[in-house]
Amino acid sequence: MIQPPATLGLLGGGQLGRYFVQAALEMGYAVWVLDPDPASPAGRLATRHLCQPFDDPAALEALAGQCAVITTEFENIPRAAIEWLDAHACLRPGPRALTIAQDRLEEKAFLGEIGVAVAPWQALWAGAALRPPLIDEGPAFPAILKTARLGYDGKGQVRLAHADELVQAHAELGGVDCVLEQQVDLEREVSVLVARTPDGHVEAFPVAENSHRDGILHLTRVPARLDEPTRERATAIAQRIAECLEYQGVLAVEFFLTVNGELLVNEIAPRPHNSGHYSLDACTVSQFHQQVRAICGLGLAPAMLTTPVAMVNLLGDLWPASTAPDWQGVLEAGRARLHLYGKTKARPGRKMGHVNVLGLPGEDDAIAAASTAESLWQGLSDAAGGPAARGDA
Ligand code: ATP
Ligand code: MG
Repeated sequence: MIQPPATLGLLGGGQLGRYFVQAALEMGYAVWVLDPDPASPAGRLATRHLCQPFDDPAALEALAGQCAVITTEFENIPRAAIEWLDAHACLRPGPRALTIAQDRLEEKAFLGEIGVAVAPWQALWAGAALRPPLIDEGPAFPAILKTARLGYDGKGQVRLAHADELVQAHAELGGVDCVLEQQVDLEREVSVLVARTPDGHVEAFPVAENSHRDGILHLTRVPARLDEPTRERATAIAQRIAECLEYQGVLAVEFFLTVNGELLVNEIAPRPHNSGHYSLDACTVSQFHQQVRAICGLGLAPAMLTTPVAMVNLLGDLWPASTAPDWQGVLEAGRARLHLYGKTKARPGRKMGHVNVLGLPGEDDAIAAASTAESLWQGLSDAAGGPAARGDA
């Protein structure tokens, strides 16, 4: 058990890291953050910000020497750095979970091995000759070609209506290793966060329901609109993945619920997740406090919903000409909680903050919260002359 005032290490300095730092500081720990960005949201709050590349040997040595445990808020840490830290320090989650989650091909292979259903897929290796149509039992079209590594927020993906678009799409993605995935007919998207301690205790958060705009998470509502057996199935699958990985920390599992009622795993993230931000204001423990507990081997807190909630993301599109929105409407909505990540530069698609809208305790759905969240967002978007205002969402 790693108790305060130990120093914890964090690879990555984005908003997920910022909340981790806040939670750890609150609990009496010190936190060292490694991130090359001098304006990193987590680095600015950390006890110490090592402003170096993730593979900087001196910075890795400093982390290993100082930190009782090192974790990550960002999956694309170079493999050599992960392996070095695993050999010289206590890295949680460990290298297996991190490398599987870094690579869609490894991730799909792993999920297949443990018997978890995913959308039909096929590997497309860099340099291999592409001869569409593909193997008979492969994915049907329309399909999505995704780079195996380094994709996020829908980047590194091309949608294909027909097999004959494959060669060009693969070239557009730089001819790197890719996965070709069947586009499934979605009823809903949901996600489950689970925490697991080194001694094997697991605690799942309530299932979240997610909607996306342009491949980026837009709105999360909890409770998700699911029947009880599906809710239980999603939770059990997420727990099973954490167990099979002997996971240490907080893990996010994204699911597709198809129109046929199949529950497929989309992807996993070896860290807290944007869709878990509702837990900051509407749970008995936040995903970040739970992350501190899990990696330090403390007991996990029960993760129960205290009130229905909807979270809406605030992207840089709401900052026209880099001017911050007028927050009055959000601040006046008594059940809304404004979160901003302290980022100084806004860009379209960049996650700048979010709003959690709390429903009334005791209500058994999040409909009112979701519609308030949506209308607050719409007001901001209209004021910014953004996509919703132009009607081209
Ligand atoms: P994020 O970083 O937001 O998790 P990502 O870049 O890792 O995104 P994915 O999760 O693979 O990308 O896809 C983003 C979104 O695109 C999904 O949440 C879903 O809405 C849609 N999508 C992706 N793959 C499929 C699929 N096979 N069938 C239907 N929709 C899909
Ligand atoms: Mg995703």
